[in-house]
Amino acid sequence: MEEIIIPISAIEHFEYCPRQCALIHCDGIWADNAHTVRGSRMHRRVDSGASRRERGKTILRAIPLWSEELGLSGRSDAVELDGDRVRPVEYKSGVPHGQAANMQVCAQALCLEEMFGVDVPVGYVWYGGPRRRIRVDFTSRLRGRVKSAIATIRQQIQSGRLPDAPNDRRCRECQLRPHCLPELTSSPRKTERYLKATVFGCAT
Ligand code: SF4
Repeated sequence: MEEIIIPISAIEHFEYCPRQCALIHCDGIWADNAHTVRGSRMHRRVDSGASRRERGKTILRAIPLWSEELGLSGRSDAVELDGDRVRPVEYKSGVPHGQAANMQVCAQALCLEEMFGVDVPVGYVWYGGPRRRIRVDFTSRLRGRVKSAIATIRQQIQSGRLPDAPNDRRCRECQLRPHCLPELTSSPRKTERYLKATVFGCAT
């Protein structure tokens, strides 16, 4: 069987919600909300910047990344080269929360290590909310978590199975909520209530 190449962006989607990851990367569903539009605008700005020299470092913009070993591909917002040091930088429009962005930049580091044959122990995530960047150490624990996520995403795509909806606070902020209908899949009781309220127009 041909190997399934996992997009680096899928790791962030998976970490947020495995069902969201499956909807986007198995079913090809996408929708925007205020968060994703802000993020896309930021990435357009970042990607349109030219590679340049800055305080003795070379900053490469929007470079393609891949790992044959992990079956992974994507793109880095920025890669800083300082002598023999290579550092990926991911840009986010919001504020730090959870591990998703750290896992995404760690996956970029794994690609850079394979591509350039160097160690990449550290990277950064720049957040538009506080307008500062946070250092991310690529510990063996974080690397293991990223590799495990890649393996699970691959299994998810191969099986074609849509994970159940957690239907929790994540759903309030999720751009795919109208497509996912988490109320319908989280429990039979909730499904019954949802159908009564929305299809049959009666409250329980
Ligand atoms: S609406 Fe909730 S369950 Fe559905 S994809 Fe989004 S976060 Fe996941």
